[in-house]
Amino acid sequence: MYDPKSPKAEEFIDHDEILETLQWAQENCANAPLIDSILQKARARKGLGHREASVLLACTLPEKNAELFALARQIKQDFYGNRIVLFAPLYLSNYCINGCVYCPYHLQNKHIPRRKLTQAEIAREVVALQDMGHKRLALEAGEDPRHNPLEYILESIETIYSIKHRNGAIRRVNVNIAATTVEDYEKLRDAGIGTYILFQETYHKQSYEALHPTGPKHNYAWHTEAMDRAMQGGIDDVGLGVLFGLERYRYEFAGLLLHAEHLEAACGVGPHTISVPRVQPADGINPADFKDSDGLSNEAFAKIIACIRVAVPYTGMIISTRESGAVRARALELGVSQVSGGSKTTVGGYAEAAQGGDAAKDTEQFEVSDQRTLDEVVRWLMELGYIPSFCTACYREGRTGDRFMQLCKTGQIQNCCHPNALMTLEEFLLDYASPVTRDLGEKMIAAEIGNIPLEKMRTLVQRHLGQIQAGERDFRV
Ligand code: SF4
Ligand code: SF4
Repeated sequence: MYDPKSPKAEEFIDHDEILETLQWAQENCANAPLIDSILQKARARKGLGHREASVLLACTLPEKNAELFALARQIKQDFYGNRIVLFAPLYLSNYCINGCVYCPYHLQNKHIPRRKLTQAEIAREVVALQDMGHKRLALEAGEDPRHNPLEYILESIETIYSIKHRNGAIRRVNVNIAATTVEDYEKLRDAGIGTYILFQETYHKQSYEALHPTGPKHNYAWHTEAMDRAMQGGIDDVGLGVLFGLERYRYEFAGLLLHAEHLEAACGVGPHTISVPRVQPADGINPADFKDSDGLSNEAFAKIIACIRVAVPYTGMIISTRESGAVRARALELGVSQVSGGSKTTVGGYAEAAQGGDAAKDTEQFEVSDQRTLDEVVRWLMELGYIPSFCTACYREGRTGDRFMQLCKTGQIQNCCHPNALMTLEEFLLDYASPVTRDLGEKMIAAEIGNIPLEKMRTLVQRHLGQIQAGERDFRV
């Protein structure tokens, strides 16, 4: 029944295969020779299969777990260096016809105010986001063909890309909207989106159906096969994610890797990113009501991140402001390569906050744990030794899908990431940073230029930094 190449959700996310994987992992959780051989394989940086990675996740041997964490840190360093890419979510509308029981936007919630931004309001949000320094957004909207049809999403993307406020610009719009048709994905591709993101929420079909009792999202196969349709529609970069806490995390972890393996086997390219959200409190939502609310400690969460890092080294990993600064700091060390900063999970929250208001608060999708401003997040990253990056270069240079993966696998992408991080950080420092952040950042850039190995590239970056200081913007390699 299990077939990674099958187009059918229940065959590439095969329940029995997951159960057998979990059983095998449990039987071998203290099998030192086997765990050694899996770690050895992971050291070759070619990734691991779902069975092998599940053994690492189940491993109970403290010294082997220490090796796993050390390896995750090393792979993170080798593939992503000390750069962290920043983005912000932009909520367009909280109208939704689905019944997801973990989300306050579900249709049955009659007391949450419903709001959908007009194009003028989107423009105000984008100006506020640009004034913070953001260049990369993740669009969020509930599923509602009447209020949020695809035409609305497409028009919104056009609005977002069209706003050029002072030196600001949104250069990459990733889109997180409901599963849709190949034709709709083609339209999203033509609108110039970056990554299409869709969280699976849970891979456990029975739980999935219970957690999504009503609305089109109830259809497990339609949702789970969405990435295949997105790729058929010409979207090269897709982002997976599980809402950890809904189901037993080891089940979700195995499901996530089965999905990644399926995309590689059936579409020729694995996921561009994996997000690791956890269920958070929200209006009428208590994380303790879900199955794995007790099982998923911060320690287990960190181990999931380490295991994803060694299993799929080429896939970017994303963590949001759902998590506290302390959890995010650990996640960055172990494998996360992108974080959101200064986020509002409300509809219209950025423009209101810019004017000192908080009226959109009651439209919040979940509570933001990390409440710091983008400037504070940037400074914090630098204090931890990371280069905050506002880079959006790859998809704008046509480096997507298997072309991108090829550059990742050969390590060549680093020759682009590091210079782009420095140049986009310089833009941020000049246009948006507080004096103390700017001071720290300038010192970091001066020190990091020397870490560009190719002399030609070093000279080019130095020249572009001078041009940025003279007022020019948007250089990339
Ligand atoms: S998770 Fe998404 S689809 Fe479900 S209720 Fe919330 S907004 Fe709607
Ligand atoms: S160069 Fe490409 S992979 Fe590197 S940070 Fe920029 S967009 Fe990401």
